[in-house]
Amino acid sequence: MSGTVRLFVEGDLAADAAVAVTADQAHYLGRVMRLGAGDQLLVFNGRDGEWRAVVDALDKRGGRLTARRQSRPQSAEPDPADQPWLAFAPIKKIGTDFIAQKATELGAARLLPVITANTQTNRVRCDRLRATALEAAEQCGRLSLPDVLEPAALGQLALDWPKDRRLFLLDETGVQTGRARFLAGAVAEHPGPCGFLVGPEGGFIDGELDRLARLPFVTPVTLGPRILRAETACLAALAGWQTLAGDGR
Ligand code: SAH
Repeated sequence: MSGTVRLFVEGDLAADAAVAVTADQAHYLGRVMRLGAGDQLLVFNGRDGEWRAVVDALDKRGGRLTARRQSRPQSAEPDPADQPWLAFAPIKKIGTDFIAQKATELGAARLLPVITANTQTNRVRCDRLRATALEAAEQCGRLSLPDVLEPAALGQLALDWPKDRRLFLLDETGVQTGRARFLAGAVAEHPGPCGFLVGPEGGFIDGELDRLARLPFVTPVTLGPRILRAETACLAALAGWQTLAGDGR
């Protein structure tokens, strides 16, 4: 069913379960994807795996599907608890959407917008980020959505960070200061659940890097001598982790 429509739904999924879809979803299915009664699609809810479903009815108020058969169990996807988190300083709008989309495609389990000294904007449209992540999950075949948290100040992020989850601090000064490790070595040393922290366009200020690097659950990591854009660093770190410790294992 390549090219089949995939839709995230809220309701429980089981054989012959009735599945309600919203007015927006009904519009997308009927008007955009030209589906009608009897047509098939794939649905997932982040809990019950992925199911083949059939359209019963669509109208401008909403729609109803019936789940028929499970196409993939929820266990077909790694436990979200083992998937990386991504804390990132919001950047200009399109960049932040890009980060949410690529982090979802690359399996991030949680997105944490963080406000640092050089963050250009502390207004983060979390509803937009959630919608972008949902669309990316539908498109890329994920069985779950990443959590998208409200923005937090850098200090609060460090306070709230679970101490059993390694925080890889992406330090753009890491090569010349010799303070950061390359990703492969850092991941080999800390194979458990992890997360990445990426700074804003203006980078971290020294005080931030020093304070963070002293925390026992933090490992400064470099992605090489070139200064990457924040959105590139997010994507490179997650892709590197999946290759070293995630999908690539
Ligand atoms: N102010 C910096 C650019 C910051 S880039 C300058 O112009 O020199 C934005 C963020 O991407 C950084 O804060 C860092 O978290 C990450 N980043 C960029 N290049 C990196 C690299 N080579 N290694 C690790 N992190 C990097």
